[in-house]
Amino acid sequence: MAKRENEPMFKQVLGSGWTVEAELATSRELVGRLAADTAGRVAACVIVAMLVAYAASILLALAWASLILVNEFTELQIARQIRKSTVTGRRWLAAYFVHLCLGSSLWTAMCLALWTTGDVVNMLMAGAVVLGILIHVSLFYNESRLQTLITGLPPVVGTGTMIVWSSFSPELKGEDKIVAIVALATLVGYLSVGAYRSVTTREALRALVTKTSRLAAEDPLTGLQNRRAFVDLVTERTNNGLSEVLAFIDLDRFKPLNDQYGHSVGDEVLKEIARRLIEQPDLIAAARFGGDEFAVLISLPKGVDGADRRMHALHERLTASIYSEVGHVSVGASIGWVGPGAKAMGMSETFHAADVAMRRAKVERLGVVEFDEVVDSAALASSAIEIALRQALPAGRIRAALQPIVSARDGKIVSMELLARWPDSGFPRDPAPNDFIPIAERLGLLNDMLWSTMSQALPVVAGTNWSLAINVSPSQLTSRLFLARLSAIIARHGVSPQRIELEVTEQVAFRDMEQNCAVLHEARKLGFQVVLDDFGAGYSSLAVLDRLPLDKIKLDQAFVGDLRERAVTEKIMRATVALAHDLGIVCSVEGIESAETAALVASFGCDQIQGYWIGRPELVSLQADRLDRAS
Ligand code: C2E
Ligand code: CA
Ligand code: CA
Repeated sequence: MAKRENEPMFKQVLGSGWTVEAELATSRELVGRLAADTAGRVAACVIVAMLVAYAASILLALAWASLILVNEFTELQIARQIRKSTVTGRRWLAAYFVHLCLGSSLWTAMCLALWTTGDVVNMLMAGAVVLGILIHVSLFYNESRLQTLITGLPPVVGTGTMIVWSSFSPELKGEDKIVAIVALATLVGYLSVGAYRSVTTREALRALVTKTSRLAAEDPLTGLQNRRAFVDLVTERTNNGLSEVLAFIDLDRFKPLNDQYGHSVGDEVLKEIARRLIEQPDLIAAARFGGDEFAVLISLPKGVDGADRRMHALHERLTASIYSEVGHVSVGASIGWVGPGAKAMGMSETFHAADVAMRRAKVERLGVVEFDEVVDSAALASSAIEIALRQALPAGRIRAALQPIVSARDGKIVSMELLARWPDSGFPRDPAPNDFIPIAERLGLLNDMLWSTMSQALPVVAGTNWSLAINVSPSQLTSRLFLARLSAIIARHGVSPQRIELEVTEQVAFRDMEQNCAVLHEARKLGFQVVLDDFGAGYSSLAVLDRLPLDKIKLDQAFVGDLRERAVTEKIMRATVALAHDLGIVCSVEGIESAETAALVASFGCDQIQGYWIGRPELVSLQADRLDRAS
């Protein structure tokens, strides 16, 4: 109440939240649905004018109707101006209210003229029209109190005048006078209350909508925007590319602090961080994305590295100690930001860029990092791949390709290597296995990928006497169910374990060697073949040949590339083949791109060869087509 007393008079009448801007906004709404309203009023005007012409005076009817129509016509002009822009709209607001008041007054004047004729039919008509005006006001001009007042006041004053006229008029006698006065007073009293209720109900409704939409856009703990509202706002502001600075902030050491001191201290810290963010100069918006992740959008400061300096200052402020119920505590912060300098990026890319920069700040403990196209592009692409891969794999869009491995003696296919492909990925260039396999591995999706590609490839292999070589990463071997699942899937296609070659790299010998060896031994016991892939590409010592349970080794294509130039390579290759044969291990070479190298490696005693010269990896779907056509 105290607050209301201090308010200026006009705010008490028009509502405490009244501003010209708010009034303009509601007027805009009103003129927005102009056409239907105008048509209704013009129709009413024509009907009333005809009745007046018939019952009272043609001249009056004509004069009145023309005034009303002129007033309606000016509304079209005013409405156009109001819709246009805020600046000129403000000036036209006054004109709009004059128009509304005029319209309402003209209608009231007609009622007065009819009423004061004293003729019963005219008076009935006047009463009906006043009723119509007041209903129209409470139904159509209830968007703001000012609208209701300006359109409602003329009929209320008019009705008052009609009551006064009735009480003094010698033309009305006895019961007629009483009935006329009571009817008019009831009508105007009831409808005024109705109009008032109508406008205040709309006000309450609007307040409720504002409050709910604010709650839906707000992070309840800090009062900052939530992610959705922030994304909406940034999207709206930056539809032509980012012209501001977008920063992602992730707190460091927040979780241990939360665990150590409890949630109430954690909440205090988050609230304090929010307060510090709000104090950021040039702030446009600040948000909490949940947990200890925040984001801000600030307008671009002037100067060459103005933005960078701003971000460092922000970092300093955020990491300054915070006073809490357990004394001073402090958290670290990693800030990644992207400014208008970055190449034209879509909205989601911009958010992504800020996130990538923030992650680099975190991993490299740099505090503040500006997104750098060169440094961060790989991370940017790989996270995009990550997102796409999560959808592509379950949708079966990772496809199986097969590449033949042939006998060096007679060129007959002995085996097919299963290689993953991602055609129609939607990226400018379809990601190669070297792009998406490490990501699938990190996401723990390699097994799913293998089951999917195997079920595409096994039907092709099942009807032949070829083996199927599959690539198995060390992380896949550690999964306890790996061999069981593998056995089940080949059994389903009627392929025996003897025809499955597990290609592992020497990595399996470096980490968890004992466990991996145990799995490989188990695999061989079940009948699977074990192949050491990429031999010669890494540290490759001949010792692993002895340590791992192997059926075959595959010399890496690096060997082949070197072959023609270096006699040493040739010697190593010969020695390796000889040693492998001594140990009873089959030798194959990959990366054979010409007849010449094929002949050369065959002369060293290699048993099998693989490479583009023999056949490129080909999608199983295409292969199946061809086999169909051949048969
Ligand atoms: P990898 O097992 O050494 O596979 C041989 C790679 O050499 C394949 O590349 C193949 O397309 C390529 N290649 C074959 N012949 C030639 C040739 O004559 N010249 C040249 N320059 N290259 C040749 P790709 O398909 O890009 O695969 C790369 C690596 O990705 C593979 O190396 C393998 O380690 C991994 N990989 C592919 N598919 C899978 C999969 O389904 N699961 C797992 N775990 N790894 C896979
Ligand atoms: Ca391989
Ligand atoms: Ca290889």
